[in-house]
Amino acid sequence: MNAEKRLVLTAPEAKPPFFVGVDVGGTSIKIGVVDDGGRSIAVGDADGSRRSFISIKTEPHPQAAAELIAESIHELLQCLNIAPEACHGIGLGVPSTMDMVTRKLRQPPNLHGWEGSPMVDELSKLAGFPVVFCNDANAAAFGEYWVGSACGKPSLALLTLGTGIGCGIIIDGRSIEGATGYGGECGHLVIDCSDDAPLCGCGQRGHWEAYASATGVARRTLALTDRRESSIRSKISPETRLGEIAKIVCQEAEKGDPLALEIVGDTAKYLAVGIVSILNTVDPACVLLGGAMTFGGPDTLLGQRFLEQVTKQVRNRAFKAVAENVVIDFAMLGQDAGFIGAAGLARAEFLNTKEKER
Ligand SMILES: [Zn+2]
Repeated sequence: MNAEKRLVLTAPEAKPPFFVGVDVGGTSIKIGVVDDGGRSIAVGDADGSRRSFISIKTEPHPQAAAELIAESIHELLQCLNIAPEACHGIGLGVPSTMDMVTRKLRQPPNLHGWEGSPMVDELSKLAGFPVVFCNDANAAAFGEYWVGSACGKPSLALLTLGTGIGCGIIIDGRSIEGATGYGGECGHLVIDCSDDAPLCGCGQRGHWEAYASATGVARRTLALTDRRESSIRSKISPETRLGEIAKIVCQEAEKGDPLALEIVGDTAKYLAVGIVSILNTVDPACVLLGGAMTFGGPDTLLGQRFLEQVTKQVRNRAFKAVAENVVIDFAMLGQDAGFIGAAGLARAEFLNTKEKER
């Protein structure tokens, strides 16, 4: 079941209390309302179509952003006919960490203006709801844990494969944050310690995402097509953006180009190497692959072949008991994972507070 086929309810069918999930990206912010069972409430468009979230622009200035998010949440609740009293919290997923003492955001990579802002408390004040902060990768992982591919499993690692490798790890319902909020940043696992190892987007060398992300696929493809015959070569020009190259590899692999298939196989191997390190560190019950770079994902033969190759490589390299136990699968919530998970974390906080008050 993919994100498009998920059950999306209208508000009268949904089960209160409600929670709002906010998934902040570099250029846009998704906001969705989720009921107590983790089901998103449908938002109607003017053309009659329905979707699970609204999308607003990411304001570069944090105060303007907090005001726009708060305003949009109230408009959304009103439009869904949900009284503010029925909503019990907001989960704010940001590609950043937060200093737990000062409660200010720290080093958001694509949102430099937000650095040092007290976004969580500001949003809470403006919107009038408690706000729970979460890293965006951990929010997406919590979404898959709550109502996605890992539903019913005690633990998981979600890998979001795109320009980089995002990773969120949930163990027994809690995300691994670490001492400084960088827990689960597995895209930066060191898999190559040679001095000329490829540079990662973070500025260091030899990191996992420099090999197994779309950027890593592009770098390896350019090096190979320089010296090997392939149908990929004619599809790439100096103007081709790096981000497009993994898509071209996918298209040519689907047509059976041997070099493209080899690149997909190599990507599975590099991915498996990092997955084994995660298994050896936290031993999650499942590892889920999501994001744009899954070579077609569950709906294509190439995507299924990629998953089989990853699984086989993991089984060959991990401890036997771990390899036999772990489930490796595709994530299923797609771009809904972030806001559903953020809302789920707000719900978890609400339930905790209620429990303490007893
Ligand atoms: Zn790195």
